[in-house]
Amino acid sequence: MKLGGHISTAGGIHLAPERASRFGFQTFQIFSKNQMQWNAKPLPEEEIEGFRHGVTHYNMCGIMIHASYLLNMGTASAELRKKAIDAFLVEIQRADLLGADYLTFHPGSASGSSQKEAINSVIQNLNSVMSEDQKCIVLLENAAGQGSTVGRTFEEIAEMMDGLQFREKAGVCLDTCHTWAAGYDIVSPEGYMETMDKFSSIIGFGKLKGIHLNDSKKGRGSHLDRHEQIGQGTIGLTGIGNFINDRRLAHIPMIMETPLGENGYGTDIEVIKSLKGMKSA
Ligand SMILES: [Zn+2]
Ligand SMILES: [Zn+2]
Repeated sequence: MKLGGHISTAGGIHLAPERASRFGFQTFQIFSKNQMQWNAKPLPEEEIEGFRHGVTHYNMCGIMIHASYLLNMGTASAELRKKAIDAFLVEIQRADLLGADYLTFHPGSASGSSQKEAINSVIQNLNSVMSEDQKCIVLLENAAGQGSTVGRTFEEIAEMMDGLQFREKAGVCLDTCHTWAAGYDIVSPEGYMETMDKFSSIIGFGKLKGIHLNDSKKGRGSHLDRHEQIGQGTIGLTGIGNFINDRRLAHIPMIMETPLGENGYGTDIEVIKSLKGMKSA
């Protein structure tokens, strides 16, 4: 499997590949700018070079950038729409400068509009930022379904993908915690098979480019996005084991976004190792 985690960029983006390598990761995810701020200073040339060098040197692949949490591509407000579009363009630009493979984002939520309208806004807004020239693949991440978020069902994700002009530049990042919180069974062997079959028939495995491997503090169908350390939440060892031992997913980057971050990956990795080869769905 291709295991990785979300990595801090403290001290500069160029330090991330080495930091990821310390955990024995094959892949990793970063924010290319402060995820809670709209503006960002341009990336210094040395950091870009250092990052690219590190990725090659430490043999990392499937590099993922997570877009800012502030971006809501589903917004109905003209002002927020402009902000989101401008910020998304910067995200694509930075991902391409860094040579990242994927730019993952949360599709957004309906603010002052219906779910249907929000989905249409996501499509429209993505179509105005994506281009033939972009190198990174934009990944729509499925949502836990809190509030009026869109992308909580595979159908909604498929609908957004279907509306895109440059479909070959888009894919899906499946977050295990969000999938479970949205109500899909990924724990019982039959439930897991059924959920993955649904994914396959509605979206298609070919579009699955990344997995966010997280346990969940809250229960199935809670619609709450609360990550937990691997094996310590309501998805537990059985649920996480289903993903780790699914041979169809062996080539897909699995990125942990567990609450302790780099302070917890050591333990998370031990748990994952202990699950490998375990009989599961
Ligand atoms: Zn995630
Ligand atoms: Zn989450």
